Amino acid sequence: MLREIKHSCGHIETYQIPNGKFSRMKKFYHERLCKECWKEQEQEKQKLAKEDNARSGLPRLTGPLNLVYGAELIRYEFFKFITDNSEDLKDKGPQFQFAVDLLRSKQKASWWHAHKRERFVHLFDVAMDHAAHQLRLKALAPEIQKQVNSLHMVPLSGSTKQIQWAESIRSKILLDLIGVELCLEEALNDKEEWAEFMVQLCHDLEPVPDLLRKMSKDLALMDAAGHWIEIRNHSLEDLVRWMKRPESLARTLHLVQGRFFFILNL
Ligand SMILES: [Zn+2]
Repeated sequence: MLREIKHSCGHIETYQIPNGKFSRMKKFYHERLCKECWKEQEQEKQKLAKEDNARSGLPRLTGPLNLVYGAELIRYEFFKFITDNSEDLKDKGPQFQFAVDLLRSKQKASWWHAHKRERFVHLFDVAMDHAAHQLRLKALAPEIQKQVNSLHMVPLSGSTKQIQWAESIRSKILLDLIGVELCLEEALNDKEEWAEFMVQLCHDLEPVPDLLRKMSKDLALMDAAGHWIEIRNHSLEDLVRWMKRPESLARTLHLVQGRFFFILNL
């Protein structure tokens, strides 16, 4: 049955109400703004969030305009959560500021929308893991570079343009691969503080650095620029499959990256 109901803003709207549900629906709508007023209120909130974000020095968001406005509000509420809980969050570890900076640098509106359903504390934990990984990578950078330099890389074949492109892809992929290898090795050497269940995981992971090392050695011998271009967007997991390595390695890498580095799509 069609019934008129007054909203909290005073506007009256007509609704199709199933039999017997009128008093409940009336109460429901009566406590809420009408659609138009709600929209207006959301826009106002987004506008204020945008201004506040800009004042606190957050970078400008990129993406389609309709996403940008919503993302400003998500971002505003997230950093408000960080500010309100900073004392507790700081206790989580020395990478606190690094994690905050990492999240502040997120400029894609679509990224904020993709994470809006996560609990803020979880999102922050992911950033902390990522920050810990970044700090470890930073500390290991000279070692990683040394290992990249020690690979006997074959000259690439292909057109000049292809070769140039493939070279940058090659160095990015090898840096990633070796970065994971060395981080893992370091994590494995640092067993003391690990809980029991991690020891088992550790055991399963033991052969992984060697397998990764073999992969980078084989990749170093791959001369066709076309091949490098083909794998330019491969994750390490994809790469394992592409190189026809055991599926168990791909699964382990998936687990490992979820566990230690969380991350990669952050
Ligand atoms: Zn209204």
